[in-house]
Amino acid sequence: MPELPDLEVAKTVLNRILTGKIIEEAEIGNPILLRRPTAEAFTQEMQHRSFKAFQRYGKILIFHFKPEAQLYINFMLAGRLKLQSPSTTKQKTMGFRFKLDTGWDLRYVDSRQMGKLYLLLKDEPTSLIPKFDEQGPDALDSALTLEVFQQRIKKFNAVIKHVLVNQRFIAGLGNAYADEILFAAHVLPFRKRSSLIETEIDALYSATTSVLQHAIAVITSRVDDTLQFEVRDFLQVHGKGGQPCPVCSTTISSVKSGLRVANFCRQCQI
Ligand SMILES: [Zn+2]
Repeated sequence: MPELPDLEVAKTVLNRILTGKIIEEAEIGNPILLRRPTAEAFTQEMQHRSFKAFQRYGKILIFHFKPEAQLYINFMLAGRLKLQSPSTTKQKTMGFRFKLDTGWDLRYVDSRQMGKLYLLLKDEPTSLIPKFDEQGPDALDSALTLEVFQQRIKKFNAVIKHVLVNQRFIAGLGNAYADEILFAAHVLPFRKRSSLIETEIDALYSATTSVLQHAIAVITSRVDDTLQFEVRDFLQVHGKGGQPCPVCSTTISSVKSGLRVANFCRQCQI
């Protein structure tokens, strides 16, 4: 699934290659993904708009258009953007297609059909997007200082991994990078937040920035402009259950908790 580093790199690529480009034609595939407005209104509104800028907030990518409108994309588990030739067979899982003046299509496809698309026109407020305004600060926001992180985390009393992926605490962390941050900070995922001492909270804060920045650098170095990337092989523990820990060689644990699997090292994390 796309997480913050994937979307941050996608944002940078989109800003570089699509800013100023015009949508000649828009088409909706599966209308279930479009939460607002109707498919008919969407295709009419998108036609002849140009891309002004691309932004990311947490795990949501935002397209800003001229004349003013914003498209919010929540990719959920399996949403993907693809730049493809218009002659490419339309995917059954396609959410929308923009035919661009560059001769290419920008398509949103979603094999799980769980993503959510919201188009806001002019000054329609983000309160029209469920839960958007409840999110905490973005995980890479410079305003998220150690002090702010320490203050915010005190309000959440679940096990620490659940706190990290709670978008109301900070926005942007998902299952994969929460595992990576906990490993880097040497904290076990199922510790209660209230059991963590100050140095452990500080380590989680440092690891949040360093793990995400490192991931963005690695992904940036390995992608091209097609947006078709899924680089995960550099992760330390996530998705590596049963393999040796890269630090101590202990077998990496894999524990299912609800719909998520937690991967961690029982030796390196306490
Ligand atoms: Zn280890």
